[in-house]
Amino acid sequence: MKRDLRLATFLIFLVCVSVVLLTAWQTWTARQNTLSDINTDTLNLTQALNTYTEGTFKQSEVLLLGLTERIEKDGTGPEQLERLSKLVAQQMDALPQLNSVVLYDAQGDWLFSTDTLISSNSNNADRAFFKHHRDVADRGIYIGPAILSRVTCTWVISVSRRIDHPDGSFAGVIAATISLEHFLKLYRSIHVGQFGAISLTSSEGSLLVRYPFQVEDIGRDLSRAPIFSEYLRNTSSGTVDFASNVDGIHRLYAFKRSDQYPVVTTVAVGQAEATQAWLSQTKQSVAVVLLLLGLLVALGRRLISHISRRIRAEEKLLATQTALIELNQTLEVLASEDKLTGLANRRHFDQFLDVEFKRAKRLASPLSLILIDVDFFKRYNDHYGHLAGDECLRIIGQAIKHCVRRPGDMTARYGGEEIAVVMPNTDESGARTVAEAILSCIAAEQLAHLSSPLGIVTVSLGLATYVADGSDPDEKALIGRADRALYAAKSQGRNQLSVA
Ligand code: GH3
Ligand code: MG
Ligand code: MG
Repeated sequence: MKRDLRLATFLIFLVCVSVVLLTAWQTWTARQNTLSDINTDTLNLTQALNTYTEGTFKQSEVLLLGLTERIEKDGTGPEQLERLSKLVAQQMDALPQLNSVVLYDAQGDWLFSTDTLISSNSNNADRAFFKHHRDVADRGIYIGPAILSRVTCTWVISVSRRIDHPDGSFAGVIAATISLEHFLKLYRSIHVGQFGAISLTSSEGSLLVRYPFQVEDIGRDLSRAPIFSEYLRNTSSGTVDFASNVDGIHRLYAFKRSDQYPVVTTVAVGQAEATQAWLSQTKQSVAVVLLLLGLLVALGRRLISHISRRIRAEEKLLATQTALIELNQTLEVLASEDKLTGLANRRHFDQFLDVEFKRAKRLASPLSLILIDVDFFKRYNDHYGHLAGDECLRIIGQAIKHCVRRPGDMTARYGGEEIAVVMPNTDESGARTVAEAILSCIAAEQLAHLSSPLGIVTVSLGLATYVADGSDPDEKALIGRADRALYAAKSQGRNQLSVA
């Protein structure tokens, strides 16, 4: 039963722990899957945006390439510029992302512009793209930082190309500007959440355009951010998550560096926002699991207390049973004992003698019986009173018991002031020795008996021994012979032994 209790407790504990571990593992796996899905989605989005950006720049590059060739071949006379303006106007209709196309001479003064608002004294020699082309003989396109157009007052990114004289010297710059709005229009249509962001950055980490748009973000140096300082050094695209230096919000970032142009596209989503669905689902399943665990623990406790109650009842029952057995044993002793002398009683004597007589007969072994009677005991009572008589009987009983040493022997109160000693497997001479020992023991007690002619308490003994010669057919015959021997001892003057 106690094992059942331990087993039940262990099982309940095991189930609870398993449920908790399983839930934790499932929650963790679901989170990992959610994060992995988010990373895949943002990375795909980044790739698509990068393709879009490359397309935008590619169109500008193709336009500038054609214009450069024409200018270098035809020169920049008024007629040529007139033809050029018509050609550019046609092409710009097909390229809505273009804000303007401007041609600058070697001093940075404009020679031609699609902007009708441009003032005649507009000089752009201070712009980064102009300085770059003037100082570097490279014929590729240059993507400049985001700038506020001096003509249209809108934010633009310039894409420019160097124009050379036939001798290779610097002749000027042709530049097209792409409105930031062109990118923002697309970025706005993409859902990246409240804490998400989409940005286009130069490969050095200078911010070109970012959604959500804030003017102060333009040109921000991100070269120290982990994407630029760490990840882009080893790979051209990937995902990473970290807390922003600017607002402290933890975001999941996907980034892609263009293979064709020195720009990087980044898509970021707020981690807490992106994992919101996972979190609320986790909360629900944790609530359900807690409810089930509570139910399990409650049922378990009921089961354990039920088993405990049964154990207690069983222990009580066992204790009662033990007490009952002990009581029975005590009762048995009481039922077989004589209260006054502490010797076996008559009932016990009868049973014992019956068993031992049958055994002696079966085994053909001797069995001796001594009947002892206190001499002149009536007179003792009369003289000293019944209480003193009782005490005297008790002393005599104990004295006789001390003389009967063998464990198989029995000393019993036969009745009144008569005591019997049964000695299995004891022949007459052995029994005689015991009887004589009893006589001298009683004498040694020197119990005063003034009403007796002998002056002290004495006893008379009758001894009969059963031997396997058929003289005693049963134990009654043996008692009869011992009784007659006792009578003989009395009649021969008492305080002596008579053998049948
Ligand atoms: P005898 O020498 O011939 O045996 O004489 P007696 O007086 O001993 O024999 P009798 O049979 O005449 O008397 C026995 C007495 O023993 C009678 C009774 O008062 C007394 N007696 C028997 N049982 C008890 C007992 O339990 N307590 C006391 N105090 N006396 C008892
Ligand atoms: Mg008597
Ligand atoms: Mg007597």
